[in-house]
Amino acid sequence: MEKLKEKILNLKKEKNAVILAHLYQLPEIQDIADFVGDSYNLSKQASQTDAKIIVFCGVYFMAETAAIISPDKKVLLPEIDAGCPMADMITIADIEKLKIENPKAIIITYINSNAEIKAYSDIVCTSSNAVKIVKKLPKCQKDIIFVPDKYLGNYIAKQNLDRNIILFNGYCNVHSKILPDDVKNLKEKHPNSFVLVHPECRGEVIDMADEVLSTTGMINFVKNSAKKEFIICTEIGIMYKLEKDNPNKIFYHISKLAICPNMKKTTLEKVLFSLEDLKYEIKVDKNIAILANSAINKMFELSK
Ligand code: SF4
Repeated sequence: MEKLKEKILNLKKEKNAVILAHLYQLPEIQDIADFVGDSYNLSKQASQTDAKIIVFCGVYFMAETAAIISPDKKVLLPEIDAGCPMADMITIADIEKLKIENPKAIIITYINSNAEIKAYSDIVCTSSNAVKIVKKLPKCQKDIIFVPDKYLGNYIAKQNLDRNIILFNGYCNVHSKILPDDVKNLKEKHPNSFVLVHPECRGEVIDMADEVLSTTGMINFVKNSAKKEFIICTEIGIMYKLEKDNPNKIFYHISKLAICPNMKKTTLEKVLFSLEDLKYEIKVDKNIAILANSAINKMFELSK
C-alpha cells in the first residue's frame, strides 16, 4: 500500500493535481488527500486551488460542483459510479411542480443534488450553513422550498425562523438508517457521552442530540471540547479523523448500518488510474453550469 501511495503522490506532483477527499472516504484515501473535509469546505478548496487538476474523492455531485465552480480546471472522479441516491431522488419535474404550487417561494437546494437542480435554484446550501443562510434572508421572504433532504429541511423549519419551509420527500438512505433506539441504547451503555448528530438524520434522532453539526462541525467541536466521550451519529468514515486527531478521547459510532457504499467505492488503485489516464473527467453543460454557479455563489456570499 505504501508503494501505491508513493506513486500517487509523485504523479500528483508531476501533473500539478490536488486531491480532495470527503470525510466519509476510506482512511487510506483521506491519508493521501491534500485536503479532507465536508461538502462546504471541499467546494471552497476547489474554488481556491491553483492546481490544474482536481481529483475528487467523493461522490458524483461533489465532483460536479467542483467542475461548476472551477470551469478552467480538469475535475476527475476516480470512480464514475460513485453516486448519491439522495441527489438522484429529485427531478426537474418535481421541482417545477413545487414552484408552480408555491410561486412566491424561493428555492434553497442542499449541495447534495445534481447540477440541473442547482441550476433551477435560487441558493445552494450545505448542512453547515443552511440555518445561517435562511436567517440572512429578508424577513418578508416567508416561503422557502427546500430540496431534496426533508430531514435537513425539517431541522431548519424547527429553528423558529418564522418561515414557511416547503419540503420535498428526499432523504439520505444512510443517515435515515440511524434510529432513536440506537442512540438510546448507546447512551444507556455510556451515560457520560455527548451525542453529536448530523442534520441529515431523522427528526427523532436530531431531538436526542446534544449538538447538531455538519461533519466538519463535528471535527471542530470535538477538538475544542473538554468532554471525553462522544456518540457519533453520521456516516462511519468520519471516525478515522476523529480518532486520529483525538487519541485521548473515546468515540462510539452509532450504527453498523450507517455506511455509505458509494463513498467506499474510491480505492487507491482507482485514484492512481485516475491520475494516470485523467479520468473520469466531469463536465457540466455550460448553460446549466452558469446558473448553478450563481446559486452556489449566493451560498458563499450568505455564509460569510
Ligand atoms: S452519505 Fe447519504 S447523502 Fe452522503 S453521499 Fe452517501 S447517500 Fe448521499
